[in-house]
Amino acid sequence: MGRAFVYVILGGGVAAGYAALEFTRKGVAPGELCIISEEPVAPYERPALSKGYLLPEAPSRLPSFHTCVGANEERLSPKWYKEHGIELVLGTRVISADVRRKTLLTAAGETITFKFLIIATGARALKLEEFGVTGSDAPNVCYLRNLADANRLVDVMGSRSGGNAVVIGGGYIGMECAASLVINKMNVTMVFPEPHCMARLFSPRIAAYYEEFYKSKGVQFVKGTVLSSFDFDSDGQVTSVNLRDGTQLPADVVVVGIGIRPNTSLFEGQLTVDKGGIKTNGKMQTSNTSVYAVGDVAAFPVKLFGETRRLEHVDSARKSAIHAVASILDPQKADEFDYLPFFYSRVFAFSWQFYGDNAGDVVHFGDFSGSRIGAYWVSKGHLVGSFLEGGTKEEYDAIALATKVKPAVEDLAKLEELGLEFALAI
Ligand code: FAD
Repeated sequence: MGRAFVYVILGGGVAAGYAALEFTRKGVAPGELCIISEEPVAPYERPALSKGYLLPEAPSRLPSFHTCVGANEERLSPKWYKEHGIELVLGTRVISADVRRKTLLTAAGETITFKFLIIATGARALKLEEFGVTGSDAPNVCYLRNLADANRLVDVMGSRSGGNAVVIGGGYIGMECAASLVINKMNVTMVFPEPHCMARLFSPRIAAYYEEFYKSKGVQFVKGTVLSSFDFDSDGQVTSVNLRDGTQLPADVVVVGIGIRPNTSLFEGQLTVDKGGIKTNGKMQTSNTSVYAVGDVAAFPVKLFGETRRLEHVDSARKSAIHAVASILDPQKADEFDYLPFFYSRVFAFSWQFYGDNAGDVVHFGDFSGSRIGAYWVSKGHLVGSFLEGGTKEEYDAIALATKVKPAVEDLAKLEELGLEFALAI
């Protein structure tokens, strides 16, 4: 049993949706393109799962956030795929791939053949078991990567309103979930080993700004330690969380956000792997010329940094997918992907954007007792990264442009004094 397509996208997440739209814009004939996804629904904007999806009132639900609404483009409903002759093979896991023979084998036993493959398998949430802690299967322990996870979190939160929630991990999933748990009237404690939240991105001062607000909402922080075990009741529900420093926290809900691992395993030994992802060139092409990789799973050259990086951000997934399609359909014309890393988050009434790299010296600006703060990062005499909370579209555009042009910065004190004006003047 088998089917053959010219183009196959493996994975039906954010990158797949944007790639599909680009294929139709550039001209793809009905029956040429197929998307295979383990998830049972058409591609959607994954960031919604930790934001609008978790709201207690008027939560976002599909079909409202199918791609590509996140970039204010067309919303691709299942009907859209049908109308464009794109085969959506949903609820189907690919269990092996042979890039030389150009075949994929599904768990249902079907062989799908491609001429060109786009790997868009994204990443999976790291499990506690990978750190030696058991209990991920308990009904009130939640992860958040896909729709099934989000539904489970909604159910668990709904049935334990007013109870205690422990969030393991201080990254963006932890921060966004903690905010949602508070909005859902839970008593929240966050636990992470680092000295402050969002340790991979925030400076201590930026982190303190957000942590203070979280504390004002009743969130407690336990830092510098990690989870060591759970206590369970006779139904297998977690009742408390035991930390390595001896602290015991009562828990009705546990949310775990301790990082992700790219889904590369089908291709290891067949394609070059780098930085934990599938290595591509500036056309998003892997070490096999018929195979491209995009989104969270791809490690690609970031011109601005002069090195290969793997990014775990939605904007990178969208743009790398669009770039791969352009490269496949018009290889002579397609340029090298020239990407400015961009990451954002929204929690409570906050909204921030970050561009570039958080390397070198950090220079803060804005009103840290008010609602607008910002920071620049300066490395080797040049501005390489910018952060802004509460900006307008024009201001975000300005910090993005400033980061892209990498202006020379000689005087950090002057940069601090100018603050946002520095970017607005570029
Ligand atoms: P994904 O969207 O993860 O899609 C991968 C797809 O591949 C999935 O459908 C998966 O089921 C499928 N798949 C994998 N293996 C197989 C297989 N073997 N067979 C079949 N199908 C397979 N980024 C930001 O910049 N800002 C944010 O605010 C933000 N919020 C987020 C909130 C949450 C809750 C999460 C989980 C992520 C968030 N991100 C955010 C990150 C962003 O969503 C990802 O960078 C983006 O989804 C990556 O897109 P992708 O297409 O590469 O992978």
